[in-house]
Order: sequence, then structure tokens, then C-alpha cells
Amino acid sequence: MNQNLRVRFAPSPTGPLHIGGLRTALFNYLFAKKNGGTFILRIEDTDQTRFVTGAEDYIQEALEWCGLIPDEGPRQGGGFGPYRQSERKNKYKKYALQLLGTGDAYYGFDTPEELDALRQEHESRGETFVYDARVRESLKNSLTMDKQEVDQLISSGTPYVIRFRFEPGTEIHMDDMVRGEVIVNSSTLDDKILFKSDGMPTYHLANVVDDNLMAISHVIRGEEWLPSLPLHVALYRAFGWEHLMPRFAHLPLILKPTGKGKLSKRDGEKGGFPVFPLEWHDPVSGAISPGYREEGYLPQACINLLALLGWNPGTEQEIFSLDELVDEFQLEKVGKSGSRFDPEKSLWFNHQHIQLMEESELIKAFQSVLLSSGVETTKGRIAVLVPIIKPRINFIHEIWDESWFFFHAPDAYDPEVIKKWWKEDTPQKMELLSAALEKCETLTPESVETLVKGTITENEWGMGAIMNVWRLLLVGAAKGPGLFDLAAFLGREEVIDRMAKGIKQIEDNR
Ligand code: GLU
Repeated sequence: MNQNLRVRFAPSPTGPLHIGGLRTALFNYLFAKKNGGTFILRIEDTDQTRFVTGAEDYIQEALEWCGLIPDEGPRQGGGFGPYRQSERKNKYKKYALQLLGTGDAYYGFDTPEELDALRQEHESRGETFVYDARVRESLKNSLTMDKQEVDQLISSGTPYVIRFRFEPGTEIHMDDMVRGEVIVNSSTLDDKILFKSDGMPTYHLANVVDDNLMAISHVIRGEEWLPSLPLHVALYRAFGWEHLMPRFAHLPLILKPTGKGKLSKRDGEKGGFPVFPLEWHDPVSGAISPGYREEGYLPQACINLLALLGWNPGTEQEIFSLDELVDEFQLEKVGKSGSRFDPEKSLWFNHQHIQLMEESELIKAFQSVLLSSGVETTKGRIAVLVPIIKPRINFIHEIWDESWFFFHAPDAYDPEVIKKWWKEDTPQKMELLSAALEKCETLTPESVETLVKGTITENEWGMGAIMNVWRLLLVGAAKGPGLFDLAAFLGREEVIDRMAKGIKQIEDNR
């Protein structure tokens, strides 16, 4: 246990968690568990205007589905709570006031209308308006007004914000565990709002204050927060917390399947793959966005595929359980450049993890799929079926499609296969094969194979043609697993019945 290593996943409940967010949670979890640290969930819900009903529950459920259970969080509690910023709202103002005291922040009284007008005026000149050292001296704030006037405005209830005051022309040096040293000149930064006129802190203030109050040692988050880093570092310095500053790691973007630009919800809609862990029902529009869980992905596959978006173990190994990821994970092996999301590869991961499922679990899964299709059979029979079918599926829900003909004779026979393989002498050959099978007491995959191959050789038939029509009679189409396995599963009577039924039906329709 490393009590000093504390990381947090700090989502804002503004909608469903994107898989990029889930990957951030995963990397935080892996880093914490690998190093014996603490994984914290903090809900950053200070922006009331962006609050979305159900989003927090969604986040918690998604983490639980993946097994990324926080050590501390709104549901778990912990010694540094509360873990929802809306429940901490009284904590922040004092820090904004502290910065006013040290001269690192100032009051702004400019109304939204005034700022809008300035924005438009700049735009009409082809410029962008930024509230920074160049313009602040000419605007309505406590840097340009005398103290009496400021006090009077505040006591009369005039709305105000509190802004951070960047000293222009200084280099801010930052250290990122993924990117190395990052240097930004403060002249390029605007005086961000720390405290809003509605009495709530902004993301920046609440985030830095809480990271400090919660003794966070490492901040691991998406690359989109890198532009906020200079302000956050400047805040630590202004608060006198530089020695307590966490180490930062900004994770690379997850890119579209084309490799160009950040993976978005629209990419998922276009490509027919989910970008959310769980299905999301939009509380306002009622629109439903697909989720990995509902599409039939196993959580362990989801975790595995996300882990390899941005991190690599430095070996050829691609399949990992969560425990193996914990053992192998190193933040140093997270790359700088974005990782392309590959929907095909996601299927492959699910396929691989199905192969790794415990036999008893697979039997249960098969049993429930079969039952819902009206097939009642024994566990013993299912245990025979599992190894035959599992290599053929990417999803549990594909079981029935791949196995219905183990339980029902086909009603129809693929005309394409008939056209290609059914010849004048096919019925006669199939009858001979059927007669040979009749002599076989018990069918096992091996005994059927010996018998069928023997009959083919003896009669000097072509292997391909026979196997194709035999399959047609047993399955109705050119699909399915090995015929020797199928025939052994069906048993002698059923095989012979299917052959007779198929021969008759095909001949009758010719
Ligand atoms: N609330 C921010 C988000 O939604 C947190 C960013 C951070 O981790 O600092 O991602």
C-alpha cells in the first residue's frame, strides 16, 4: 500500500461517458493498483448549466461494469469527501479570496453584454477578443477601479467574477509524464475566470483546490486538458502549493478509424459501432445511443481494447485480463501520439475474450441463449457444443445463429449450393453414404470421419463435392462448423433422417 499515491478520475456529468473518458478512468485505475495507491472518483458538477440527469449514475455504472471500482467516491465514501463538487461548493470561495489577497486574482465587473460587444467589435476587425494583460487595464475590474468603488459595487450586490491574473512575458515550465517538459509563455494566456457570478467556482479553481484538498499525487487525464495545465501550474504556485503539486500525465487522443481527428459520437453513428460503454437514453431528446454492454461486448474485452489505445506493453502480447494489465501497466509506456480506433479490432478482442471465458460460464450463456430459442437440453450436450461453436462467434448472441441446426433440421436448402454441387448422381451417392452411416453403431467425430472418408476413397468420389452436398443436407447451407462434429452431435438416426428428408425435398423441387 502506498498511501501517498492518490489519483482521481474527475468526470463532469454532462452526458454519457465517452470511451475516451473510460480509458482515462482505466489508466488512473491501473496506475493506482499497480503502485498500491488509491483510485478516487470525483464528480465535477459545478457547472449547473451543463448538468444532465442520469449522467452521474451512468458514469458510476459504467465503471462498475468494467470492474473499475473506486476506493473513494460518492458511493464508496472516504476520508476526503464529499466527492461531488456540488456538495463542496462552500469550500472554494476562500481560495479565490486568498488569490485576491496575494494579487494573483482580481474582480471583474464587466457585464456579459459588454463582453459580447467587445467580442463582436474584435471579430469585425478579424481579431479574437481575449481578456488578458493587454486589455484588462482598460476594462471594468478591480485593477482599474479604486478600492472604495470595488467595495461599493460588491456590497450593493453587483454581479462579479474573479479572474486569475497572469503576469505577461514569463515562461511557465511544466513537466508532463507523457510529454516531458512543456513550456508556455504567459503572454499567450488569458485571465481565466476562477469564480463565477453565480457563486460557483469554475472547473479550473475547483479542480486545483480539490486535487490539493484530496492530496492527489498524479493527475492523469485526456490531452484536451493540456491547454489548461499552465493555469493549473500557475494556480499551484500562487497558492504556495508548488511543493505539493501533483505530477501530470496527459493521455493521447483516441482518433477516428480514418486516423484523422478525434473519435466522436458521429463516427460511431456513421460506422455502426458504439462510442459509449453503456447504452445512453438522452433524457431530453429521448434518443438512444448504443453501448458496448448492450451490443454484447464483455467488459473484459472493452477494458482490454481501451488499454491498448495509447499504451503498449512493449511486447507482442495483446490479450490481457484486468489483473494482467495492473501488473504490466506503466505510465512511461503511454505514447504521445493519438491512437486510431479500429472497430474491427474491437470485434477481435471480444472474440478472444469469449475464448478465455470459464467453461461453466460459457455453458450458462449457451443455456440461456438456447432456452430463449425454445431449446431445452442437458448441460452435458451443451458442454459438447461449446468448444465447437465458441471459435465461430464474436458475441454470445451469435450462438443461436451458429448452432440452431444442432437442434432443428433445415427446412430450406440454399439454391446456390444446389446449383453448384447437386448433380444427377448426387442422390445415389448420398444414399450410399447414408447406408454406410447406418452401419456405424455410435457416431463420434473420429468414427464418422473414418467412415465418410473411407466411403469417399472407396468409391473414388471427389471429397469437396461430397462434403458440400452432405453439409447442404444437414445444415441447409454452406455454413457451419466441422461436419464430423455435427454428425456426432446429431447421432445416427437424425443424420440419416436429415439426409433422406433433404434428398427428397431437393429432388422434388428440381
Ligand atoms: N471535469 C474534467 C472532465 O470532465 C476533469 C479534467 C481533469 O481531470 O482535470 O474531464
